Amino acid sequence: MDKLKRTKIKALLNQEPGAEVLAKGWVRTKRGNKQVKFIALNDGSTINNIQIVAAAESFDEELIKRITTGASLSVRGKLVESVGSGQAVEIQAEEIEVLGECDPMRFPLQKKDTTLEYLRSVAHMRLRTNTFGAVLRIRNAMAFAIHKFFNEKGFVYLHTPLITESDAEGAGDMFQVTTMDLKSIPLDKKGNVDFSKDFFGKKTSLTVSGQLEGELGATAVGEIYTFGPTFRAENSNTPRHLAEFWMIEPEMAFYDINDNMELAEEFVKYLVQYALDNCLDDLKFLNDKYDDGLIERMRSVLGIAFERVTYTRAVEILEEAVRNGVKFEYPVHWGTDFQSEHERYLVEKHFQKPVILIDFPKDIKAFYMKQNEDGKTVRGMDVLFPKIGEIIGGSEREADLNKLETRIDELGMSRKNLEWYIDTRRYGSVPHSGFGLGFERLLLFVTGMANIRDVIPFPRTPKNAEF
Ligand code: ATP
Ligand code: MN
Repeated sequence: MDKLKRTKIKALLNQEPGAEVLAKGWVRTKRGNKQVKFIALNDGSTINNIQIVAAAESFDEELIKRITTGASLSVRGKLVESVGSGQAVEIQAEEIEVLGECDPMRFPLQKKDTTLEYLRSVAHMRLRTNTFGAVLRIRNAMAFAIHKFFNEKGFVYLHTPLITESDAEGAGDMFQVTTMDLKSIPLDKKGNVDFSKDFFGKKTSLTVSGQLEGELGATAVGEIYTFGPTFRAENSNTPRHLAEFWMIEPEMAFYDINDNMELAEEFVKYLVQYALDNCLDDLKFLNDKYDDGLIERMRSVLGIAFERVTYTRAVEILEEAVRNGVKFEYPVHWGTDFQSEHERYLVEKHFQKPVILIDFPKDIKAFYMKQNEDGKTVRGMDVLFPKIGEIIGGSEREADLNKLETRIDELGMSRKNLEWYIDTRRYGSVPHSGFGLGFERLLLFVTGMANIRDVIPFPRTPKNAEF
């Protein structure tokens, strides 16, 4: 007889009863009585467990004792119709092997009530929980959907560097990259750090965005996207910021700001729809456990057009809200950057749908954004979502060589370091646009988790790089 092959639990749960099967996984719970034990087994292929029914008389008492929460098992038996409620099928165990024991006294996930905060302190083990299984599967589905979306549109996946010499992007504080001995740093005659002695011969950092290189790609092959890790050394301990996060940055030649907004809206709707179509078991679990508005909120963004509002109009709305007694922690007036509380007021209270803000004051946005005729604003766009605030930031880029150089000078930035970037405007410059979607911000929306540390397997935040 052929050796019986293991079937994943997801497939078993959808299989007709009758066959001899082999399942492997980790014990979630064991209960029962003297005669019969019920073991809930999970292998990560689905949020759902398969029930193993083990008649006590058929198994060694010692073996049964070793089957504890967290232990790994290999179970051979017959797939039969389940009499109890819950699943349609269960396994009538004929042979059980304990692959790895799990000491119940020491297993970090023993506690019944494991708060998310506690789980962060055992992040190496929390992946074994139902919650993180669900989050990881949704995260995987979203990554796949992102590649699918862009590939269907003919975008080229461009790999932009993680180590960069340019510190001009202004998107956030950077982590330096060096091989210098920090105890004896080489200095030049003026007493400044002599980076010519460093590995790259220049001061280098981890990238805060792949956009500038993305523009080089877009002005060569038309439409590109990046999808990779991004690093920001901002010391902001918020539920929406990580020091290491993943960003998706499409960049498109011949797109103006309207094309850009259309793409951004289509993109996030596609991803939300994909999650609803492919991750419903996990979504239902998270919806029931953490956020009973999750699925409804996801559906609510699909059917409607996102509201498009200028920054100037949004300021008026917020000022009016303040006059009507709404309290914000941070003041708002024309020229200030919105805080998350302002963004959420616009989305959740005022418009009650996702909002795309456009035409920001040029002084709060990066040098590369296309300048409007009014001399005051630029063609930036931020997509704001319920419960989160900004999930996308983007713009039409300044395609005019003169205006771009003037702006770089105005901001006191070094043109020299940006010559390679400015070349895109010297040689065959085209109107073009792009945006960045924070992958974990998207995941906050499609998992209902409240803290960004809980949608990435191994979060990096100030004072925390463990695991
Ligand atoms: P915020 O104002 O929310 O800090 P930002 O304006 O600094 O964001 P951008 O430079 O526009 O962010 O980056 C594009 C996108 O990357 C943001 O819309 C957001 O989704 C995501 N993002 C930015 N910073 C972080 C971070 N520290 N952790 C996780 N995601 C981030
Ligand atoms: Mn932004």
